[in-house]
Amino acid sequence: MTSITFDNVSKSYDKVTPLRSVSFTIEPGEFFVLVGPSGSGKSTLLRMIAGLESVTDGSLLFDGERMNDVEARKRDVGMVFQNYALYPHLSVAQNLGFPLSVRKVAKAEIETRVGEVARMLDITSLLERKPKQLSGGQRQRVALGRAIIRKPRVFLFDEPLSNLDAQLRTHMRAEIRALQRRLGVTSVYVTHDQVEAMTMSDRMAILNEGTLQQVGTPREIYDNPATPFVASFTGSPSMNLMPYSGKTLGIRPENISLENTDTSIPLEVSIQAIEFIGHEWLIHGISNGTPIIRRAPSVGTDVVGSTTTWYAPQHHIRWFA
Ligand code: ADP
Ligand code: MG
Repeated sequence: MTSITFDNVSKSYDKVTPLRSVSFTIEPGEFFVLVGPSGSGKSTLLRMIAGLESVTDGSLLFDGERMNDVEARKRDVGMVFQNYALYPHLSVAQNLGFPLSVRKVAKAEIETRVGEVARMLDITSLLERKPKQLSGGQRQRVALGRAIIRKPRVFLFDEPLSNLDAQLRTHMRAEIRALQRRLGVTSVYVTHDQVEAMTMSDRMAILNEGTLQQVGTPREIYDNPATPFVASFTGSPSMNLMPYSGKTLGIRPENISLENTDTSIPLEVSIQAIEFIGHEWLIHGISNGTPIIRRAPSVGTDVVGSTTTWYAPQHHIRWFA
């Protein structure tokens, strides 16, 4: 199992600096997610690990060994992209075996490994088909199989599920996680979807405009966001951020209470809309000109058009300077 360290890594082109002095370590065997909005530098970081992108400044280390100048093909990483281009004229079996056949692995060995990987991904019945005879989910599974067949040192995923519908995406998330646990290979997974990051990761790193915002477990990041950006990027709906006497008060929608306790901060709210989403309600309001959302199993006394007081309990408040 391999650790991956970014030590003060920067990336610059002529006019843009997609990454500024990024430092963090991915632990051996970890499933680590890089998450952030489009353009925040996620793919650049991932491609640096693969050796497809050079490091302008700082060091990239595998198990403490500097990799900056090691060629991509010598890094032993398996990568799955959003556009998992399978070879259309090759069968599923040939697509799976491709990384081994280009490395001149013996035919019998390739057959054994293709069989193993196909069983693991439950695609044994598809081995003779061509990619165009597969569904989106089946194709993505073949792409996964092709990445793992070499048993690489590191798995890299760049938004591999973005092209799948919501239901299949949820299913494949769980499958990728189960597969990774079984193989124990250090994995780095890029997504712009915070739900995907929260549900899949052992730990995650949040990026914004090339700057590392926070690294931690989903729980740590959800409960204790380091910056207003992290607060507003995590959770659905995200943390409410209210200007409050020179500081910013952060409160998660589910932590707003209708009851006053002596340690609560009162918020005068005019109720704008109430949404029922099945297992809970979202109550939208405006407080001092700032939108605010309360999330609760029941509406309580809130009525659209009325003005009321909501309470932010001190122990749930996150203050930002
Ligand atoms: P993400 O994967 O988070 O969407 P990227 O890592 O692909 O973001 O890109 C980060 C930033 O770097 C973007 O602003 C992008 O336009 C810029 N960028 C990426 N590649 C190049 C390049 N070859 N030349 C100039 N700018 C680039
Ligand atoms: Mg990207």
